[in-house]
Amino acid sequence: MSLIPIRCYTCGGVICIFWNSYQEKITQGQSSTQALDELRVSRPCCRIMLISHVDLSDTMIKQHAMAKDYQKKMEKLADDTRHLAIFTEKE
Ligand SMILES: [Zn+2]
Repeated sequence: MSLIPIRCYTCGGVICIFWNSYQEKITQGQSSTQALDELRVSRPCCRIMLISHVDLSDTMIKQHAMAKDYQKKMEKLADDTRHLAIFTEKE
């Protein structure tokens, strides 16, 4: 999953269609320049969008899951504390 913008912010050209191919070429060891030339991404604004994009979607999904776990733990702790308070009031 990727959150690459669909269009270039400057010229409005569709750039998301190049993302997967660009990533494949980079992981194969090609330079950014070479990869973008092969994909025929010629405008500098679009090239910058692809080169500078950092895909944080996996990190965001993990952090969301961690935040949910933390919320559940805090709710359980609040319940436990409430029970403890009731228990100590009775004594
Ligand atoms: Zn552009």
